[in-house]
Amino acid sequence: MILALVIAAAISAAAFRARALSIDGALAAVVVGTIVLGMGGAAWAILLLAFFISSSALTRWRAAAKAAAGEEVLKGGRRDAVQVLANGGVATAIAALAALRPDLALFPAFAGAIAAATADTWATEVGLLSRATPRLITTGRRVPAGTSGGVTPLGTAAALAGGLFIGTLAAALVLVGWAGSSHSVGDVVSAASAASRAAPVAAARIALATLAAALLAALFDSLLGATVQAAYRCPRCDRPTERRVHRCGARTARTRGLAWIDNDAVNLAATAAGAAVGWWVG
Ligand SMILES: [Zn+2]
Repeated sequence: MILALVIAAAISAAAFRARALSIDGALAAVVVGTIVLGMGGAAWAILLLAFFISSSALTRWRAAAKAAAGEEVLKGGRRDAVQVLANGGVATAIAALAALRPDLALFPAFAGAIAAATADTWATEVGLLSRATPRLITTGRRVPAGTSGGVTPLGTAAALAGGLFIGTLAAALVLVGWAGSSHSVGDVVSAASAASRAAPVAAARIALATLAAALLAALFDSLLGATVQAAYRCPRCDRPTERRVHRCGARTARTRGLAWIDNDAVNLAATAAGAAVGWWVG
C-alpha cells in the first residue's frame, strides 16, 4: 500500500503539473490510484492509467475546434475531485472489495467500470468534432453539439473504439497472467499455472464482457442524459446550456431533468451499470 501510495502520488503530481487535474482532482486521484494499485494490482492500475491518459489526451486533441461546442458544458478540461470520483469511484470500490473477497473474481466488473468511463469520455471528446448535427437518443430531434443525450455516428464509433481499447488491453493482461489478485507466493504460483491453462478462454471472455459493458453503459449514459439529467436554457441568449448562471450573467431556466442530476451523477450511474454488465457477462 505504501509503494502504491508513492506511485499514485507521483503520477497524480505529474497530471497536476500537466494541467490534466485540478489540485483537489489530483488529491482524489492519489486515493483512487493507491486503492486500485494497492488492493487490485498491476493489471488494474494499467487499465485505470489507460483510461486516464487516453481521456486527457483526447480532451486536448483539437481543443480549439471543440471549444465552441463545449462552452455550454459545466466543466472544462481540468478534472476536479467530483469528476475523478464520478468516473473512478465505482472502479475504486470494486478494487477494495476484490482485496477483501478475492473469491468474487471482480476483475471483469472493474474492467467494465473503466470501459464505461472510457467509452463515455471518448464519445464526448470525439463526438464534439462531428459535422453531423447530434440527435437526441430518445426522440431523434436535432440538438446543438454538446447537448447531453445527443448522439452522432462519430461519437458512437468513438464509444465503440474506447470499449475495444479497454477490452483488448484487459484481455492482454489476462493472457500474461497479471489480472488475478494474488496475496501470497503460493497464490501467485497457482494463479500462474491456472492462468496458462485457461488464459485464451478467459481473455476472450473478458474482452467480450468489457466491450458489452462499454456499449451498454454508453447507451445508458445517453438515455439518462436525455431524460433525467438537468438541462437549462438561457432566456437572454436563447441557448441550451448545462450552466445555472449563463456566461452572459443571466440566470438560466431548467427545461428538463431533475435539478440534482448533473453530468457527474450520470457518469457515476453509467460506470455502475458498466461494472454490473462486466461482472454478469464475465
Ligand atoms: Zn446567456
